[in-house]
Formats: sequence, C-alpha cells, structure tokens
Amino acid sequence: MLNADLHCHSTVSDGTLTPEALAARAKANGVELWALTDHDEIGGQQRALEAARAEGMKYLTGTEISVTFAGQTVHIVGLGFDHRNPALVEGLRRTRGGRSERAQEMSDGLAKVGIRGAYEGALKYVGNPELISRTHFARFLVEAGVCKDTPEVFRKYLTEGKPGFVPHRWARLQDAVAWIHDAGGLAIIAHPARYGFTPNEEYALFTEFKAHGGRGVEVVTGSHSTQEAVRYAETALEFGLAASRGSDFHSPDESHTDLGALPFLPGQLTPVWELLADRIQ
Ligand code: AMP
Ligand code: MN
Ligand code: MN
Ligand code: MN
Repeated sequence: MLNADLHCHSTVSDGTLTPEALAARAKANGVELWALTDHDEIGGQQRALEAARAEGMKYLTGTEISVTFAGQTVHIVGLGFDHRNPALVEGLRRTRGGRSERAQEMSDGLAKVGIRGAYEGALKYVGNPELISRTHFARFLVEAGVCKDTPEVFRKYLTEGKPGFVPHRWARLQDAVAWIHDAGGLAIIAHPARYGFTPNEEYALFTEFKAHGGRGVEVVTGSHSTQEAVRYAETALEFGLAASRGSDFHSPDESHTDLGALPFLPGQLTPVWELLADRIQ
C-alpha cells in the first residue's frame, strides 16, 4: 500500500520544522504522498508543494480547521483544495482571528497562579504571528521549568477547567466543510478518538458532517491506538466515509509518531487519496 502521510504541522502553525525540513524528513522516512496540514492556515502550501516536488514526492494541499461542535473543539482536515480559493483563504483568516486576544487571556489566567510573562514567553516560539496556540504556551512552560514535558502542561494548565484554559468559539462545522469542498477539496474528521463526546454526540457529529458533504475520517493517526483504528474503520464503513492516514507530526522532540511511520489502513476501506487522484500534484 502507498505510504501516505496526510497530517502534520510546520512552523507556519505549531510545528517546529519548516515546510522544507518536513518534506526532507518525510522523504527520508519513505513517504510517497504527503500533505502539510497547518492549523487554520494555508500560508505554507506553496512552499510545501515546491519542497515535495524537489524531493520527488507526490503532494496534496492540506489544512486542519478548528471547529466548535456541541460546545467542543473538533478538527476538520481538508485535502486537495485550491489553496488560492478566496472563500477558503478568507474563512481561515477569520478562524485565526481572536487567537491573540485568547492568548492574552490565557496568560492572565496563568499569572493568577503565579506564572508570569507567559504571553511573551510563548511568542518566542511562534513562527506565524497570527497563529499563537496552546502548543507555544506549553513549550514555554517546559522551558520555564514549570512542567517536565508538554503533555503535563496540557494536563495541568491548558485544558478545560485549568488556569490557562480560555473557552473559544471556532468555525462552524458546515462552514469548514463548505470552504474545503467549494475549493475543490475533501473534508475529513481528524483523530475522532481524541474528542470527549458521548456516543450520541459522536453520532451527531458524523451524521451532520456527512449531511454537510464531509467525505472522510482519519482512521490511522499518531493519536489512535490499534483498537481505536479498528473502531473508526468500522465507523467509516457505517457512515460510508473514506479513510485517511496521517502522523500529526509536530516536532522531533515531542511527537511519538514520526512522519510516515504508521500502520497501513485496514483493508476494505476506501483510502481518501483514491477519491483525490486528480488533485495529487
Ligand atoms: P489550540 O489550537 O491553540 O487550541 O492548540 C491545539 C493544539 O495543542 C493541538 O493541535 C495539539 O498540537 C496541542 N495539544 C492539544 N492537546 C494536547 C495534549 N494533551 N498534549 C500535547 N499537545 C496537545
Ligand atoms: Mn497542533
Ligand atoms: Mn488536531
Ligand atoms: Mn494536527
């Protein structure tokens, strides 16, 4: 089967490698079809496409859109769209808006528990001023010696109910799917096992996603266990969705799954790249 890795992050969002360094790493790891999927941002797509070309690797354009559904954050990966589509560009720009204010509030929350200068500290790790994220705060808190690693920072400071967590309203599910779709791409539910949904809420997510024109689900990702991959392979079949595969690689120092180093998709599923054959560059 094709070694496709269709989910990772560069310095254009919350990864630590440039698009060029990611392309080289993907190639060295045996990736044959690659997509860079920065959060709410497609500013790295042209660089990624050119780097993939230079490495002799096939490429699909990509992004990972933050969506609010049933009061929680859900990530929708888009693949194979025209990255110059004006409605997509504008929708993502609006989705990024508000991250700076949110980051200031996160910093205020952390100051209340004695952690000072977190906003300025996080900014040192930011590659794209429009894309300050919790990941950048996590890196700063590790540097400051507050926690030993980034998962501990999330657990203690950056998740619901913790001092640095600020509720935020992202894009609507139907808008994210429409932006991707109308730009010629395909929408995919990212890492479904990561959401804290009840079975009813999860059923609603998949049902509404389908109704809005969503076509795929990530089955094999860096954040799914073997059992979770089996479970979402069944969900893909139940809802008639194609299946995607992606490491969600962010950094050599933080990610436990490297680019391309994933199990293959279970048989009997339709890989998303079969539906995107004419969008591969
Ligand atoms: P944001 O878009 O600012 O809310 O940040 C979300 C990002 O934080 C995700 O894309 C992950 O990269 C990272 N993240 C979320 N939860 C965790 C966690 N438990 N451990 C480490 N990183 C996480
Ligand atoms: Mn991330
Ligand atoms: Mn995600
Ligand atoms: Mn991701």
